[in-house]
Amino acid sequence: MQYVIEAPQPATVPVEGETAVFPVRRIWCVGRNYADHAREMGHDPDREPPFFFAKPATAVVPGGGSLPFPVQTKDLHHEIELVVAIGKGGKDIAVEDALSHVYGYAVGLDMTRRDIQAEAKKLGRPWELSKGFDQSCPISAIVPASKIGHPANGKIEVSVNGKVQQTGDMNQMIWSVPESIAYLSRYVELLPGDLLMTGTPAGVSAVKPGDSLHGTCEGVGEVRVTYAS
Ligand code: MN
Repeated sequence: MQYVIEAPQPATVPVEGETAVFPVRRIWCVGRNYADHAREMGHDPDREPPFFFAKPATAVVPGGGSLPFPVQTKDLHHEIELVVAIGKGGKDIAVEDALSHVYGYAVGLDMTRRDIQAEAKKLGRPWELSKGFDQSCPISAIVPASKIGHPANGKIEVSVNGKVQQTGDMNQMIWSVPESIAYLSRYVELLPGDLLMTGTPAGVSAVKPGDSLHGTCEGVGEVRVTYAS
């Protein structure tokens, strides 16, 4: 195939214990999937159907590290999330089959320009520029499910400058990983390389230039980010 411009290479994420890397196709995100976080954002979490938004694959920052502070925001928020890496695609996936579509798991940060999101919500506008900006998805290496299984519980936490800001347990998800995969696959065909960010516990807060973030999901891994001052 010849392309009229340089063809994009896929964004990739390292895989623990492998030299081969995981090619990222799309990044799906579940909104308000922990009750306490839904409440802190002013919503009633009583199991309304899940909703989804997306970030571009190019938003991944494998391994985190030192990042410039994002432009166009005065209210950058961290959201620590368990990330599911889809290895096998499918549509109308049954809940009981969903985990067979998972290649592995990672720890990710759904960085959010909360001020832009608040304005979008108020005006009924899309969320892309609040959620899908450059470098908005720092992410750990992916750990294959063949090594760690499928984490249904365990501490999920992020500290800012050494102080715990968000803490919860992955068993507090309103929609479990299999339920989210099944639900989303009724609306789009999931494809190999898709990532699914599974929502964040309570305690989101503003990040300032110079801040260091350390996010963990028990049994999965950790991600560290330091923003330029
Ligand atoms: Mn999120």
